[in-house]
Amino acid sequence: MKTEQKPLNSVTAISPYGTFLGISQTCFDRVWQTLTAPQGQSVTYVSMEIGADRDVYHPIKNLLQAMTKGDEIPPDLPPLADKFLHGPEKIPTYSGGLGILAGDTLKSFADCRLPVAAVSLLYRHGYFSQMVDMNLGQVVWSRGWEPEEVPGLYPLHQPGNPDQPLTVTVDFYDQHDQPIQAVAQVWLKMEIGSGLDFFVPEILLDYDIPASPEWIRKSSHRLYDSSSEASKAIQRRLLGAGVLPVMRTLGLTANTIHLNEQHGVVLVLGLISEILHRQLGDDFRQRATDRDILAAAEEAGRHVVYTIHTPVKAGHDRFPRALYHGLEHSFFRRILQLLAVDEQTPEVYNFTALAMRVNRTTNSVSRLHREVTRAQFPQFKERISAITNGVHHLTWISENKAEAYDSAPELTGWRQDPSVFRQAIQLLHNKKFRHAFADAWRADSKYLIDHVNAMLAEHRHQRISTWIDPPNYLSYLDEKESRLDHRTFTFGFARRFSTYKRADLVFEDLDHLARILVDQQWPINFIYAGKAHPADKPGQGLIKAIIDIQEELYQRTDGLARLVFIPDYDMAVAKMMVAGCHAWLNSPKRPLEASGTSGMKAAMNGVPNVSIMDGWWVEGYHEGQTGWKFGFEGPVNPDLLSEQRAEMLYREDATSFYETLPDILTTFYQEPEPKEFLDRGLMNLALNCPIFNTHRMAAEYVERYQLDLPKDTEEQMAKFRALYRSDIE
Ligand SMILES: *Cc1c(COP(=O)(O)O)cnc(C)c1O
Repeated sequence: MKTEQKPLNSVTAISPYGTFLGISQTCFDRVWQTLTAPQGQSVTYVSMEIGADRDVYHPIKNLLQAMTKGDEIPPDLPPLADKFLHGPEKIPTYSGGLGILAGDTLKSFADCRLPVAAVSLLYRHGYFSQMVDMNLGQVVWSRGWEPEEVPGLYPLHQPGNPDQPLTVTVDFYDQHDQPIQAVAQVWLKMEIGSGLDFFVPEILLDYDIPASPEWIRKSSHRLYDSSSEASKAIQRRLLGAGVLPVMRTLGLTANTIHLNEQHGVVLVLGLISEILHRQLGDDFRQRATDRDILAAAEEAGRHVVYTIHTPVKAGHDRFPRALYHGLEHSFFRRILQLLAVDEQTPEVYNFTALAMRVNRTTNSVSRLHREVTRAQFPQFKERISAITNGVHHLTWISENKAEAYDSAPELTGWRQDPSVFRQAIQLLHNKKFRHAFADAWRADSKYLIDHVNAMLAEHRHQRISTWIDPPNYLSYLDEKESRLDHRTFTFGFARRFSTYKRADLVFEDLDHLARILVDQQWPINFIYAGKAHPADKPGQGLIKAIIDIQEELYQRTDGLARLVFIPDYDMAVAKMMVAGCHAWLNSPKRPLEASGTSGMKAAMNGVPNVSIMDGWWVEGYHEGQTGWKFGFEGPVNPDLLSEQRAEMLYREDATSFYETLPDILTTFYQEPEPKEFLDRGLMNLALNCPIFNTHRMAAEYVERYQLDLPKDTEEQMAKFRALYRSDIE
């Protein structure tokens, strides 16, 4: 992507906490001043995971690459620049959609100049890496990473004391309410705006230091560690209870705290006790009545914006109350007894209930999800609105597509303003643009398929040299027989392997599927990727099911259908897949996919979606224009929340898929060229990219944040909002 050229000495800032590359001193001072101003006109964004790998997007890296033209480093570059060009690309602190959304959101905040600081955890062992074995299915391993080596990730030091790391102390409590101190080293990562004139700091707490007790250090190692219930509960508390202390340490004054899902919600216990302290004095713990606590919770809630991300039970933290003896102060447990009540199971604390009670506004992540959330939490119905998710267009549009978009004067300015893509409708009949777009798509497909073929070839060799039996049937065949062709219609499917996402849905009736393909002699590729959480056995079963289907699918279709699984899904694989496939497939059980975001990434690459009417697709589907729909789309009711296989509508939805498939393939294999297919891709771009991006989403959040913004920022936000209202009934 093109970035404006700037001399590098103007993109270094010195602060009391360290020296940062990528922004000017003026920019740093201006942003930091806003974040620490007494009026509190900023937001603290709290998320368990943040996904923002540099190999898919980083404005500074692009700038440096343009300046250095290849590997040669001119002598006048600052020392950090070398690290920027050659350091590791990945920060393995995300597991899936929630983390990617957080990263994309923070990048859009930075692009749109919104004063936000994020707080999250630094996991020394990251999230797990995935190998897949033909017989064993998913194999979990840990790819070490060194935070010290990652460019743009800075360990902060104490002001005026560069030799001493900046730390914060977070109190846990033993059975007798005696404090046990956990200490976190404070790291800072920056999401830098595309104009290089703004940034959003991500403050990452690293509890794996000698000053913290061993059990704390251990619970901080792995994102979503599930070695025990206690470890899970501790990890949530490391995030939530760290928020106020780190804000105080850095002087961040945000009046609003945005909870990206409820993981960090225990921070409200801190807010509530600060209020009570102010009202009742030092012995507030003895003096506070239940009514005082409830009133303080009401006041604390005025500072909290809460986004709920899923109707699926596993996404909501409920921990045994007994665990909190020995973790949490008895006064905090008293607050939890009042506010974190679980209606069904009295012996647990329900943290979704707590988040639902203590906020000034709650939002779901799509319109359909708003209805589901209201049905799940009827007592908070009034407060639940919809802000449909988006994705960061600068991150997800491929280089080839970006070049094609740059070639059309109608699309000028799309980097700053994704609503420009509305103009793509005018390009529908523009021969030159259609050519450029089709060429770019072909190049993206070739890149993806070349990658898959290279992987299969490599696996063929690994068979002999390692103990892993490669996961793909095709790498057991002769190379010539098993290569994929980039001109063959290719479905992409990649996301976390959770049962409700039904990765195996379209293979429910192989006979039926094979008949369709063989009848018309339609070749087809299915490219799959995704990890299942190490504790999610049914999810791992789905990966194994995909692996196990490959041979039969190939045999029954005489090699017309080829199903490949790419191990170790991450952002780079995602970007390659959403741009390079011909249609993006999503087959969740409605209404369990609250939003889904990978389909939006496909849309901005001009790739049509083929999806169940769930999550964002209910809003993004336009008949005959943006892609295809299939499956059950009746009214949502509580019975439909079941994740039991028998109640997951496999038959019904798969049959509907088979009824839709011939139309998709006929359109794609049209002679002499797939005109209508290209139209759908372009219409998906034109109708959906202007809406389902994080700039528009940020603009809707800003309304909930109650900030006084500079006039030009406010105007830009209003313009994005004028395009779309997620919350219409
Ligand atoms: C976009 C993305 C996701 C989310 O995909 P959904 O279809 O919304 O579940 C998960 N993982 C990675 C690596 C992604 O890039």
